[in-house]
Amino acid sequence: MPHEINLKRPKEDVLNISVIGAGYVGLVTAAGFAEVGNTVICVEKQADRLTALAEGRSPIFEPGLQEILGDLIKRDLLRFTSDIKESINASDVIFIAVGTPQGPGGKADITQLCDAAMEIAGCLQREKVIVIKSTVPVGTNELIANLVSDQLHKRKMDFSCTVVSNPEFLKEGSSLNDFRRPDRIILGSINSKAIQVLRTLYEPFSRNHEKIIVMSPRSAELTKYAANAMLAMRISFMNEIGVLAERVGADIEEIRIGIGSDPRIGPDFLYAGVGFGGSCFPKDLSSLISMGSEVGISMDLIKATTARNLEQRDRIVGEISSQFKTLVGKKIAIWGLSFKPNTDDTRDSPALHVIKKLLEKGANVCAYDPIVVLTNDDIDSHENFALADNAYDAVVDCDALVLMTEWKEFVSPDFAKISRLMNGKLVFDGRNIWSRSHVTLFGFQYFGVGRS
Ligand code: NAD
Repeated sequence: MPHEINLKRPKEDVLNISVIGAGYVGLVTAAGFAEVGNTVICVEKQADRLTALAEGRSPIFEPGLQEILGDLIKRDLLRFTSDIKESINASDVIFIAVGTPQGPGGKADITQLCDAAMEIAGCLQREKVIVIKSTVPVGTNELIANLVSDQLHKRKMDFSCTVVSNPEFLKEGSSLNDFRRPDRIILGSINSKAIQVLRTLYEPFSRNHEKIIVMSPRSAELTKYAANAMLAMRISFMNEIGVLAERVGADIEEIRIGIGSDPRIGPDFLYAGVGFGGSCFPKDLSSLISMGSEVGISMDLIKATTARNLEQRDRIVGEISSQFKTLVGKKIAIWGLSFKPNTDDTRDSPALHVIKKLLEKGANVCAYDPIVVLTNDDIDSHENFALADNAYDAVVDCDALVLMTEWKEFVSPDFAKISRLMNGKLVFDGRNIWSRSHVTLFGFQYFGVGRS
């Protein structure tokens, strides 16, 4: 697909960049900046990720990424290393895109970020712009700036570095496209020189209209959390209205179309289902609650959003259980393991939660996902769990089919074939992608979410 990025940039606008962390954000950031002619070194600690990258293989599944990696490496625009020192000394701008997982008490754990900042500060030889891409609690920019400046002071270096907050808004599953065509580029800093460097770097991504929004680091940090919280709230809102719809004889899919057509509301993130998951929404909501509690604010909307989401995952388990006297010995097919389609990411995936609960209740589970290779020990080593090679193998002799992730390949399955292969006649559509009238034609009993 053609994109608007400018590959023919003046030499002086092309920079040397380091990206620390070759995960879902770091790898896409590194490839995205290399694609427009910058020279990028991506630093990664995990040996298996680095080995894959050294062979030109993407260690993560992200549409389009594998296709461009080899070419960027061949053109010397992108390379990978575990040697942070070599990378830092060769760069003008350093992006940090390491993980900030949920820590004890729900607070974001910024250990990886602090460690990376210390490693950077330990080898800096001249002034650079350090950019935080990771999602971090408010005040982290100052904390990292102080860490770096203390370390430089200890090393008797007579220069300083600016730390800019540049939260990332890409979506797994379309992250390369999102990086190439961002809706906005948030830069949190009061240092005009550093902002100018980043304006130059982002110029190819901001050509058809100005996308850069400059604000204070604290506002930039909170903007990222506010965006994710708003999106998560829309999903939980629809799930809550869906529960009501089921009770009062309405259909959440009709309601979604009815309210999504209002321009003040818009159609996105209004899908009822088995709830959100992934590496961002759940832990970012939890971090927001923790930030609020530190300053004496009970983040009630955020708490309710999380509670509704957890309840939603359990509701489908309850619904499946209620169709049987006992789940012991029943065989349940699960379609989809990733937390959403077009990614291999299973972090906090509703599918894994549901599978665990079904196994706890004594069911046998046979799952299929187009991409995911499970390495979750709790599940894949369970004696009652099996992974199928394809969607139809998963349903053989099953008592119920449960759709957990709306991969394209599941949108129009051959229900006649499924009916022949299955033992039972129960279909649970956790993402409302099928129509009751169609599924029931094949003798199935259909259960959607929020549909009476
Ligand atoms: P990830 O866990 O996939 O990747 C982080 C990588 O950093 C890992 O490969 C890890 O080995 C590496 N790493 C950690 N410390 C390192 C160091 N000192 N040197 C070299 N490598 C190091 O995480 P992710 O999903 O890419 O997320 C990164 C950050 O971006 C998080 O703060 C996340 O909240 C945020 N974010 C994620 C997404 C998303 O969709 N995944 C979207 C927007 C923002």
